[in-house]
Amino acid sequence: MPRMDGRDPRQLQQLLLAKTGAALALSARRVNMAPQIPEQNAASASMATLLLTHPSFVEHDTGPGHPERADRMRAIDKVLAHEIFAGLVREEAPLRDDVEEQILLAHPKAHLEKMRAIAARPLEHPTHIDGDTVVSAGTWEAARRAVGGGLAAVDAVIEGKAANAFCQVRPPGHHAESDRAMGFCLFSNAAIAGLYARAKHGAERVAIVDFDVHHGNGTQDIFWSDKDLFYASTHEMPLFPGTGAVNERGVGNIHNAPLRARDGGEQFREAVESRILPALHNFGPDILIVSAGFDAHQADPLANLRLVEADYLWVTEKLAGIAQRHSKGRIVSMLEGGYDLNALARSTAVHVKALMDAGS
Ligand SMILES: [Zn+2]
Repeated sequence: MPRMDGRDPRQLQQLLLAKTGAALALSARRVNMAPQIPEQNAASASMATLLLTHPSFVEHDTGPGHPERADRMRAIDKVLAHEIFAGLVREEAPLRDDVEEQILLAHPKAHLEKMRAIAARPLEHPTHIDGDTVVSAGTWEAARRAVGGGLAAVDAVIEGKAANAFCQVRPPGHHAESDRAMGFCLFSNAAIAGLYARAKHGAERVAIVDFDVHHGNGTQDIFWSDKDLFYASTHEMPLFPGTGAVNERGVGNIHNAPLRARDGGEQFREAVESRILPALHNFGPDILIVSAGFDAHQADPLANLRLVEADYLWVTEKLAGIAQRHSKGRIVSMLEGGYDLNALARSTAVHVKALMDAGS
């Protein structure tokens, strides 16, 4: 087990072992409650969880002192190198020929061209777009591969090549509105993946669930007026970016469950159980995209919620249960925030392990 900054790695191992037991119990309940066609069981048993990432993500240089930094990728690389994750199918997040075409599903051409003009320049030093959002020489490739990871993940889970997928990407995406980069985000990675599932594969109902501590104003903006697109979020409020009130409802397809500073796992689970899961179940998605930010962790320096690894395990299992019921288990999870390196690595580990167990 790679040792991370002096934390006891046995704690993670114990959590993962406990998690495996929970998954077995979940599987047993599934067998008892929901008889399935034998071929479906055989197919899902043979499919693995896909991990998409790329070395270019560390080349997106946000400059000294920026929380959304390359070390986030290195911390996750380190934890996912453990033998527990040997069953992952690992692929590079691709630089696809069609990536700009798919970006246009969520953003106007003017935004794409603006980002190209800003980020594709040979920048000597990291340059601020706004107070938070920085581009550097490596940003243009990283931003397009972050989108490309989501596209490849959607292809894989819908074509039955993977049970589910985790995209270990940066820059993150959920703050990027249709025509505006902000909050470390250039393109709305998760929304693009969801719209691509519909455009390319005919998914009729696409859901995004976002448990990053910040509200995904960008995803909400892009999904706002389409009843076949679903967006649900837990987030601390008030906090950046300021959106995410309960009364922001779109056309009844937006489900915000704000939490208060110092809320912890109990309040988080209650919000998910009462306000997100029933709505998601009623919606019945053909594919579930997860905006997986881990900055609601109690150790995170950017926010004030008090989640722990077990809460990320719990929510992943809950979402996997709904995906199993409605969308053949199809989940594409995309990394968003998470700025304490230990908490990020450990939370990502339990999330990915839960995806692996859900797919097996
Ligand atoms: Zn965040």
